[in-house]
Amino acid sequence: NLERLKQIAHVPTVTKDNVKMELKVNISSAKELDMALKYGAKGVGLFRTEFLYMDRVSLPLEDEQYEVYREAAVKLGERPLVIRTLDIGGDKSVSFMNLPQEDNPALGYRAIRILLDCRELFKTQLKAILRASLHGNIRIMYPMISSVDEVRQANEILEQAKQELIEEGKPFKDNTPVGIMIEVPAAVVVADLLAEEVQFFSIGTNDLIQYALAVDRMNETVANLYDPYHPAVLRLLKQVADAAKASGIPVSVCGELAGDPEAIPLWLGLGIHELSMSVQCLLPVKEQVLQSDAQTGKSFLAEALRLRRSSEIKERLRAALR
Ligand code: PEP
Ligand code: MG
Repeated sequence: NLERLKQIAHVPTVTKDNVKMELKVNISSAKELDMALKYGAKGVGLFRTEFLYMDRVSLPLEDEQYEVYREAAVKLGERPLVIRTLDIGGDKSVSFMNLPQEDNPALGYRAIRILLDCRELFKTQLKAILRASLHGNIRIMYPMISSVDEVRQANEILEQAKQELIEEGKPFKDNTPVGIMIEVPAAVVVADLLAEEVQFFSIGTNDLIQYALAVDRMNETVANLYDPYHPAVLRLLKQVADAAKASGIPVSVCGELAGDPEAIPLWLGLGIHELSMSVQCLLPVKEQVLQSDAQTGKSFLAEALRLRRSSEIKERLRAALR
């Protein structure tokens, strides 16, 4: 099956009615890029940098991070590399940072909240990313954003990072684009406001579904309630897609749902043309895109948004896939 799929690795990713889909990969180290490029990835939609900080005894220095980001950027050439700033806390712990034990880690001290609090740590990472930007097509992405204030505070630290680089005589790319993860329901509700502050959105369905449905993504006991086709989730996705379109900024999806071939009619219906997924999902998703029809996606979504139950939506989705 893989041998068969490999034959489509380098054909253009378009639907039968000629609508383009850009398929990218989620990575956590530059090593994964060789396979991604072999399978025809159009770039990296999510570089999870947590793994640079995990399983070690101290923070990675600026130069060490710079080398990692530069290596990935060089391998990708013109193709975009979206680097997400540190997203720790919640389910991802970093032992030497002594993060507090919390009763509700998913609702606690994590991601952008830590970055805005530990400014030196954040600034060091931003400096490394800015320097690496000279060597490829790098974009910066902030995790777990829930308000305009957080974006502005993060951008202030980004400005300080640039100032320090200038003072230190280290070259960098000044106009590196900045975007945010949309993975907190509050960010969806104010997506129109956030769209005026950033250059792109990337929807993190893993956390967005968890927070929207109040279902712990790690908890087996409630796994049956973790439902990407809950009508509330569909409405949230629609709201983000519409806000991005109204402001003219690109929106992609980088949660696990982006790697599910069966979700293709949904993205086509929403007018989302950029997905980022684990490398092993790339070819199965591409195969589905090649067999799909954007028009069918549009009618699926129009109908799905009027349905009241997830079971009905999934039934309609199966029909759209046939
Ligand atoms: C997400 O939440 O969907 C996401 C892509 O980020 P992570 O899985 O790393 O939290
Ligand atoms: Mg997330």
